[in-house]
Amino acid sequence: MDHFHYRDRSLFCEDVAVRELADNYGTPLYVYSKATLLHHLSEIQRAFAPVQPLICYSVKTNGNIHLCRLMAQAGAGFDVTSGGELYRAITAGGVGDRIVYAGVGKTNVELRYALDTGVFLFNVESEGELHALAAVAQKVGRPASVALRVNPDLPPKTHTKTDTSVKGVKFGLDIDTILDVARTVVGNPHVHVIGLHMHLGSPILSAEPYRAGIEKGLVLIERLREQGHPIRVLNMGGGFGIHYRKQEALPATAFAAEILPGVQKSGCKLVLEPGRFIVGNAGILVSRVIYTKDSGGKHFIIQDAAMNDLIRPTLYDSFHRIWAVEPPASVPVQPADYEVEIPGTRKADVVGPVCESGDFLAKDRHLPALMRGDLLATFSAGAYGMAMSSNYNSRPRAAEVLVDGNKHQLIRRRETYADLVRPEIEV
Ligand SMILES: *Cc1c(COP(=O)(O)O)cnc(C)c1O
Repeated sequence: MDHFHYRDRSLFCEDVAVRELADNYGTPLYVYSKATLLHHLSEIQRAFAPVQPLICYSVKTNGNIHLCRLMAQAGAGFDVTSGGELYRAITAGGVGDRIVYAGVGKTNVELRYALDTGVFLFNVESEGELHALAAVAQKVGRPASVALRVNPDLPPKTHTKTDTSVKGVKFGLDIDTILDVARTVVGNPHVHVIGLHMHLGSPILSAEPYRAGIEKGLVLIERLREQGHPIRVLNMGGGFGIHYRKQEALPATAFAAEILPGVQKSGCKLVLEPGRFIVGNAGILVSRVIYTKDSGGKHFIIQDAAMNDLIRPTLYDSFHRIWAVEPPASVPVQPADYEVEIPGTRKADVVGPVCESGDFLAKDRHLPALMRGDLLATFSAGAYGMAMSSNYNSRPRAAEVLVDGNKHQLIRRRETYADLVRPEIEV
C-alpha cells in the first residue's frame, strides 16, 4: 500500500499534485509520503506485536534526519552501520539504548563513539573486532553488550551484491567457527555476549530464508548458552522485500509467521532492522525530460535524474517502475504490468546526463511519447536512492520533500555549485 495515485491523469502524493512539487522545488526531486512511511512501520509493529520486538530502522536505507525523527516518534530504534549513521540517529532524537550497530570494519574511533553513546548492542562481525571492542571498552571503563553476527550459510536469495548470508561474503562470523570465537570471551568483563545477530540480505521476497536462518540460530543459541554466554537477544536483521515491479512483496505477517515461533522457543528479545520495507515505497524520484532522441535503432529519453541520484538500476540491475506524472489520454493512466507491451507506448531507454553508458534508470521500457519538459516519476525510490547518491559529474544532489496530507515541507535543500567545492575551499 502506498499513497501515490493518479487523479484525473495527474500523479498525486497524498493530497498534493506532484507537478506542483516539481514546479515549486525543481527536479530531480525525491518526494516522500509520511502516511506511507508510517503505514509500513506500523505493519511490522503489528505483525510482530506478540513478542514486543525492538524495531530498529536501518539508517543506511534513507538517513534523512526528518524521516529518522518520524521513526523515533513512532517508536522505532535505529540500526546503524557507521559512526556517521550513529551521528544521524542521535541527531534525529535516537537514544543509545535503542540503537544497534553493525558493520565489518568498525574503527577504534567508531567503537569509542558508540560506547560513549551507550548503544544497546554491537553486532560483532569478526574475532579481531571482538577483541578490539574489549580493549576500547576496558579503556572507557564500561562493558560493551555484543550480539555475534553469524553468516548462516544459506542458499543465494538476491543479487550477488546484496546477498549477505551465503558462504564466502565478508559479513559475519562463519557458522563453522563462531563458537570458537565466542569461547575466547567467556567470562570477559569488558564484552558481554548477550545476543545472536543475522542479516540475510536484501530484498528478500520469500519467508523461507528466515525459517532456515532461525532454525540454525536456535542451535547456536543453545551452544552459546552452554559455553556460559547469557543469550537473551535474537536480532534477525532486515531484508524484507517491497513492490518494485508489481505486487511481488510479502506482507510483514508472512515473515512474522516464520520468525515468531523460533523467537518464542528461544526465550529471547527480538530485534529487527528493517529499512527498505519501511521507506522503499514511501518515496519517488521526480525528473523532467530534457531531450528525446533516436540513435542506433533505439529511442532515448534524456531526463535530469541520473545514476548519481539513483544508482540501483546500474549497480544492481534493479527494476523501478517509471511512468509519466501526467500521462496523455493515449495510454493507460497507470499500467497494470510495466514489463509487457502497453498500448500507445514506444520502447525507450530512460537515461540521465552523466557521462557513462551505464547511466540509466531503465532500459527498453514502454513509455508514452514524451516531450521536453514532461515530468517522469520513478517509483519505489525511497530506499537506497538518496542514501546512495553522489556528486559524480559535479552534479549537486537532489532536493527532498516530505508530504503530509495536503502539506509539503522541504527536508533537504537542493545542493548548490558552492556546496560542491566548499570542503576544498575550507582546507
Ligand atoms: C542494510 C542492513 C539492514 C537493512 O536492510 P533492508 O533490506 O533495507 O531492510 C539491516 N541490517 C543490516 C546489518 C544491514 O546491513
